Amino acid sequence: MPPSAVLTERRETVALVIPLYNETAVLPLLIDEVERFRAGQPDVVQVVLVDDGSRDGTLALARQLTDGKPGYTLVAFARNFGHQLAVTAGLSFVEADAAVILDADLQDPLPVVAEMIAKWREGFDVVYGVREKREGETAFKRATAAGFYRLFRWATDLELPVDTGDFRLVSRRVIDAYAKMGEQQPFVRGLIAWLGFEQVGVPYTRAPRAAGETKYPLRKMLRFAVTGLTAFSDRPLKLAAWVGFATSALAVAGFVWALLAKLVWNAALPGWTSIALVSFFFGGVQLFFLGVIGLYLARVFDEVRGRPRFVVKDVWRSSAPGADVRGA
Ligand code: UDP
Ligand code: MG
Repeated sequence: MPPSAVLTERRETVALVIPLYNETAVLPLLIDEVERFRAGQPDVVQVVLVDDGSRDGTLALARQLTDGKPGYTLVAFARNFGHQLAVTAGLSFVEADAAVILDADLQDPLPVVAEMIAKWREGFDVVYGVREKREGETAFKRATAAGFYRLFRWATDLELPVDTGDFRLVSRRVIDAYAKMGEQQPFVRGLIAWLGFEQVGVPYTRAPRAAGETKYPLRKMLRFAVTGLTAFSDRPLKLAAWVGFATSALAVAGFVWALLAKLVWNAALPGWTSIALVSFFFGGVQLFFLGVIGLYLARVFDEVRGRPRFVVKDVWRSSAPGADVRGA
């Protein structure tokens, strides 16, 4: 049963939010597809392209390709701040009643956007894409992604839908609520799930990247996973406490055993191996959890510095959103 929309809320116009990082290879295809899509969807009045500090001329090409086409907003970052912040910035430039976040590489098919818009008109506030099949992604990527979502579910109480990315529609209410969450390293999909509202998924087949290379090497993916986990869970810290408790209990038992062996049974082991193993083990456990605490501390430090999350170098509009797009 779809919920009914709030009466005071308009559900007419839609914007697309697309982050770009070194995407010259795919950009002409993207703009082509978007224009074709908009021809059949006159309510898509704005396209926000956020250039995340590309070094390959993406910004100049984007400007050239969108010149004279109505409704484009080009936001240029002063340097590379990362995908999640590019999306966050893009949402803040949306002037429509809803926004759809999608990747530049056409992995998120535009026909699914039409389905999302239909669901939103039924009254849903968040319509997220659920990846039923992934084409052209390595088994390793699929396995690590699956593992991460399951780990995330174990570690947090957040209802993060499995196998979703940032490909989703968000209503104006959600955009406004999201704007109030000023986290330094936003984990967009988690924050949107955290907001609540009426959420629903639409299944889709994730296409292979249309051109160019992934901008998420393993290193960035790992950082992303740690960011998401530490932002939504303190379970690793609690785990540290439990492991500490368990090893302390073990230590007491070992202490008693060692004393008995020495004083009562007269059977003390000649000690190097046992001592070395025990100290390696406890040293490892301690350093591991010190590292975990360090990760959280780094997040706290990041927040208290209170720097701006991203720096916008330039904003350019091809023309006012909505101008002669309707009925075109
Ligand atoms: N992206 C970005 N900043 C970055 C890395 C990626 O804005 O530092 C954008 C990229 O241009 C694309 C989206 O984020 O629009 C997803 O990146 P990609 O397709 O390379 O990731 P994958 O699909 O391989 O996970
Ligand atoms: Mg991609």
